[in-house]
Amino acid sequence: MSDTARIHSIETLGTVDGPGIRYIIFFQGCPLRCKYCHNPDTWDIKKGNIYTLDKLFSDIEKYTGYMKYSGGGITASGGEPLLQTDFCLKLFKKCRKNGINTALDTSGNIFSDKQKELLKYTDLVLLDIKAFNPETFKSLTGRELNPTLEFEEYINKENIPVWIRFVLVPGLTDNEDDIKKMAEYLSSLSNVKRVDVLPFHKMGEYKWKELRYEYVLYDTKAPTAYAVKNVKNIFSSFGLYAP
Ligand code: SF4
Repeated sequence: MSDTARIHSIETLGTVDGPGIRYIIFFQGCPLRCKYCHNPDTWDIKKGNIYTLDKLFSDIEKYTGYMKYSGGGITASGGEPLLQTDFCLKLFKKCRKNGINTALDTSGNIFSDKQKELLKYTDLVLLDIKAFNPETFKSLTGRELNPTLEFEEYINKENIPVWIRFVLVPGLTDNEDDIKKMAEYLSSLSNVKRVDVLPFHKMGEYKWKELRYEYVLYDTKAPTAYAVKNVKNIFSSFGLYAP
């Protein structure tokens, strides 16, 4: 098991990736290739800064006052933290021992016994469901949808609460029938605490250029506020909390 991790960056006082004030670790490496990714510089697992568990944890400890006061904790994000599951497991175990809340921000697309072990020490999952239509998922990410659904079904069985995240991209993920099917599926589960509908944006577009990757969404616009509200209403109409 690894005592070191490759980390892209750290945000010490994050407020959007889970409840309260959070220490967010953006792990390096991702197996997906989402067309709208705003952090393509996290993809390559060979890049990033190397941290030991002790170095990272002693930094986390500086912020535990903020976390406890606000009902926060740490969030392992990325990239895809599950590419470095061994390290995350050690980190989450240490957090659990020290009373620090743990959240895992993931696409859930890597799923085996190792991940099941990590989930024993995970208080909240932030699960990105990129699309509910398998073909759209494949064309958007380059990977299959099924592992993500298996992941979701496992955490549902284990009663681990989840916040679902769905990025609304005009012309790509905005098919209403698919969104309704996803809402119906999510409403049949008991662990879904909220659904965040995130509007597509292009803030990471410059990184694609710098890395000389081919960006295919140049002509795609951000969804209107009306379109975002409409999708939230679909989720709400299935009894889901979509603020
Ligand atoms: S899962 Fe996240 S980091 Fe990975 S390609 Fe998709 S948007 Fe980018």
